Amino acid sequence: MIIIMDGQARIKEIKAVQSKLIKEGFTVHISKGVARTIIGVIGDRTRAFRLSIDVMPGVEKVIPILNPFKLASREFKQDSTIIKVGGQAIGGKDVHLMAGPCAVESRTQLLECAFAVKEAGATFLRGGAFKPRTSPYSFQGLAEKGLEYMVEARSETGLLIVTEVMDPRLVPLVAGCADILQIGARNMQNFPLLKEAAAAGKPVLLKRGAAATIEEWLMAAEYMMLEGNHQVILCERGIKTFETYTRNTLDLNAVPVVKRLSHLPVMVDPSHGTGNWWMVSPMSRAAVAVGADGLLIEVHPSPGDALSDGQQSLTPENFQGLVQEVHQVAHAIGRAVNGVRQNWISDAGGLRP
Ligand code: PEP
Ligand code: MN
Repeated sequence: MIIIMDGQARIKEIKAVQSKLIKEGFTVHISKGVARTIIGVIGDRTRAFRLSIDVMPGVEKVIPILNPFKLASREFKQDSTIIKVGGQAIGGKDVHLMAGPCAVESRTQLLECAFAVKEAGATFLRGGAFKPRTSPYSFQGLAEKGLEYMVEARSETGLLIVTEVMDPRLVPLVAGCADILQIGARNMQNFPLLKEAAAAGKPVLLKRGAAATIEEWLMAAEYMMLEGNHQVILCERGIKTFETYTRNTLDLNAVPVVKRLSHLPVMVDPSHGTGNWWMVSPMSRAAVAVGADGLLIEVHPSPGDALSDGQQSLTPENFQGLVQEVHQVAHAIGRAVNGVRQNWISDAGGLRP
């Protein structure tokens, strides 16, 4: 439930409510707004109501949170969460571009890709060192060596790195290198992994499971938040439907739905969401138009030679084109693409050659 304190409530009154709840074994989260303080309470609802908090001094009202997710809900926290990582802020006015190869394949491939996406305006480098592949015969990633190349690419380019962790036992290793830990679609409900990743204290990019409802996805975020890590970035990456023409169906409905239900930032991955490189730019434009806080895009220096997901990977040139298009859409809705030179936009709002 949520306790809304009176605008005039004194610190002493807020503290009294807080200690009563803590004494009774509830988890309490205080959020101090400009006008009033809101206290979020996690625990058995019936028992919480029995404490008659509503009659305590300074309390304006007590409201139950109806959704099964609590910490992730917008009822719990009205202001959108902005996640600060390495000097960047995700979930604010800026739209972020996280780009790079599906998998780290070699030092040369990764560095080439990193410089190219940086030049185009990306602020994060994506790339899997540990790859969740449908077939055990497919390339499984370079593991530790891949992480080393990611770290080198960060120091060479200044890009922050986002990379997947698939195994709870490897969380310390991956978290020691990554700026953002990625939890892949296949692991969205791997609860031991969620808890371990959350406990590492780094921001987590939580991909939606291919067959997960929005509620299940938010409940997965709730697992991590309950672990004390509120730096969760959601990422829509397409779901399975009866349609077979595309690899997945990119559910852009999810963006406004999640924005309404939750305060967490939402990104979109149109590469996995479509499975076709030529759909990535148009769906990126659409994702930004519906309010995505960022895009996760697969880029490969030579998509035809990629060891995984070549068919959905953009060349660096096509990625540059995407950035320019997305920049225009962001501009049209009063946002900006982080890291992209502002002089690309002319006074009339169009792009300079
Ligand atoms: C990826 O981003 O490389 C990936 C494996 O994505 P997903 O978990 O969405 O399939
Ligand atoms: Mn991929």
